[in-house]
Amino acid sequence: MSADYDVVVVGGGMAGLSAALTAGRLGRSVALLSSGVPGGQLLSIEHIDGVPGYAEGVAGYDLCPITQEQCDAVGVTLITDPCERIAASDSGWTVSGPGGDVTARGLIIASGTALAKLGVPGEEEYEGRGVSDCASCDAPLLRNKTAVVAGGGDSAMQEALVVADHAAKVILVTNGDGLHGQADYRERIEGNGKIELRLRSEVTEVLGEASGVTAVKIRDIASGTEEEVATDALFVFIGLVPNSAFLGGVVPLDAKGHVMVDPGLRTSVPGICAAGNVRSAGSFRAAGVMGDGALAAKTIDDYLTTGTWQTPG
Ligand SMILES: Cc1cc2nc3c(=O)[nH]c(=O)nc-3n(C[C@H](O)[C@H](O)[C@H](O)COP(=O)(O)OP(=O)(O)OC[C@H]3O[C@@H](n4cnc5c(N)ncnc54)[C@H](O)[C@@H]3O)c2cc1C
Repeated sequence: MSADYDVVVVGGGMAGLSAALTAGRLGRSVALLSSGVPGGQLLSIEHIDGVPGYAEGVAGYDLCPITQEQCDAVGVTLITDPCERIAASDSGWTVSGPGGDVTARGLIIASGTALAKLGVPGEEEYEGRGVSDCASCDAPLLRNKTAVVAGGGDSAMQEALVVADHAAKVILVTNGDGLHGQADYRERIEGNGKIELRLRSEVTEVLGEASGVTAVKIRDIASGTEEEVATDALFVFIGLVPNSAFLGGVVPLDAKGHVMVDPGLRTSVPGICAAGNVRSAGSFRAAGVMGDGALAAKTIDDYLTTGTWQTPG
């Protein structure tokens, strides 16, 4: 594979899909490089809340394929290949993956974030055998069973509510003094008789047998007391880590590894924008990353037209 485009978008989450769609609608030739099925984190979310126009929420497995079809309709080339390297070239930027190279004058980094791991014994061992990060995929298997959800933010609360629709009992474990995030989720958690909240606590170990998870150890942070709690599953939503290691210093990152951008989503490197969860000071919301994609595409389109890369002010 080797081809030249006006714009290459790296990452097929909602930020990347929106960027590719907008760039395509602006008449640019676009390649969208995605390491997996387009959709990113939203693909498996049963009810994406807070997207304007969807009063009852929308399923990721509906919204993402529709957006991909919109990209197809404007001629976006989808390349299912992870980007491993980016290097300056005569025609702008060369983006390389196991499948080969693509080049473009404009590049939009939309590689998103990965879910952080607890980093405790047993977590890796039981991944896919009770340890999960996808409630809509695995919760239907938990009828009459118990599940532990680690985390205290929007994602943890949202997924705990999905798990509670199926499981008999959900134990939500957070190291904080309370839940933080959307009030609606907090109220629904507090009013859900199936969900038990453990504040100022952390999961320290995952235990199991050949068939999968059987228990976790939960530590009370103040007292240090550890308790073994029987469970059939552990869902982990404790934070996000930017997917930026592959950039190898091509663009500056902030202390947490997010790509630094200005209000037009330009990096300090002419021709490279970043959009969505991978960029600094992002919204971490579906509506926000969609807007990011559109803005980054417009910024790159202006650059391709004018050849100038100015930061405002
Ligand atoms: C459990 C959960 C529930 C959520 N619920 C909601 C909700 O209800 N409402 C809401 O507004 N938001 C919600 N969010 C947040 C929302 O999912 C994110 O803000 C949004 O998906 C971020 O989009 P993104 O495109 O920036 O990144 P991602 O969705 O992370 O997509 C990035 C994509 O890039 C790919 N990629 C990474 N590295 C490379 C590479 N080197 N080469 C090629 N491709 C690469 C990844 O595989 C991925 O497909 C939720 C998040 C989670 C985790």
